Amino acid sequence: MKYANTIVDLIGDTPLVRLNRVTEGIEATVLVKVEYLNPGGSSKDRIAERILDAAEASGQLRPGGTIVEPTSGNTGVGLALIAQQRGYRCVFVLPDKVGEDKRNVLTAYGAEIVVTPTSVAPEDPDSYYSVSDRLVTEIPGAFKPNQYFNENGPRSHYETTGPEIWRDTEGRVTHFVAGVGTGGTITGTGRYLKEASDGAVRIIGADPEGSVYSGGTGRPYLVEGVGEDFWPGAYDPTVVDEVIAVTDAESFAMTRRLAREEGLLVGGSSGMAVEAALRAARTLGPDDVVVVLLPDGGRGYLGKIFNDTWLRSYGFAEDPDEATVGDILD
Ligand code: PMP
Repeated sequence: MKYANTIVDLIGDTPLVRLNRVTEGIEATVLVKVEYLNPGGSSKDRIAERILDAAEASGQLRPGGTIVEPTSGNTGVGLALIAQQRGYRCVFVLPDKVGEDKRNVLTAYGAEIVVTPTSVAPEDPDSYYSVSDRLVTEIPGAFKPNQYFNENGPRSHYETTGPEIWRDTEGRVTHFVAGVGTGGTITGTGRYLKEASDGAVRIIGADPEGSVYSGGTGRPYLVEGVGEDFWPGAYDPTVVDEVIAVTDAESFAMTRRLAREEGLLVGGSSGMAVEAALRAARTLGPDDVVVVLLPDGGRGYLGKIFNDTWLRSYGFAEDPDEATVGDILD
């Protein structure tokens, strides 16, 4: 019989898929690594597992302990999934701007959530940061993964994502492209690929225009999960050869094209990474193999990126050449 003993055993080993239509005019092979096929729906399952394994091994997390983390997104899902399997309690601190769907995913796995006001300064006792720090000190047996500064985040990608790409491309990968949030994905995967190729693989970060990685100050952008207004410890800039800035409009347009032209329903940071990868790939030849990591799926963004009214409310154009049944009936 072929089965996994637990859902957690299915984390990682995600497939590579070639892009065929959005790559028109490009000679290089462009492959995407589909991380939404992880059990929690994102690449963050990998770091959650590694961080909890390490915390158990070091004694920071003991049986019956509580995981406390300020997170609204994919890391929370990964932690909640593994915590539930191993019998830990999870308390996630969320800013009130986080939509109901994202809150409901976390509570569905049995996590508890504490909602904090977005409109207060970080040093305010009610802020996202203050509340999570207070909960860590007040809850007995609390462990804070601290994904922005936890070295096990990049390490999980060094140990799994990088070797998977090297193995599946039979060492032919020439470029690796990933969006940068905590920086864990690009740092860990990039470091492995550089070592495996004696420095030959070029590592390219994709960043929302305005974020620090591409020289900005953290000006607000709408694409979720990537870009920062500070420098996380999980990011090692020496691994990264180049950072390409991508606008929200470009990210969302490519995200929609991936669904309609490649059958890949993915999130906005995936569209952003593909946009950056195609920009780089236009200058490459037929022997080049570009691997782009797609962190999560598109179902969490149906009310935003895939919703014409939402897009228009921010001044982004919809797909200009799409004639709809509505147009024909008008
Ligand atoms: N995209 C999404 C949707 C994410 O949730 C994250 C993680 N914050 C990233 C990209 C970036 O990954 P990393 O934190 O490893 O840089």
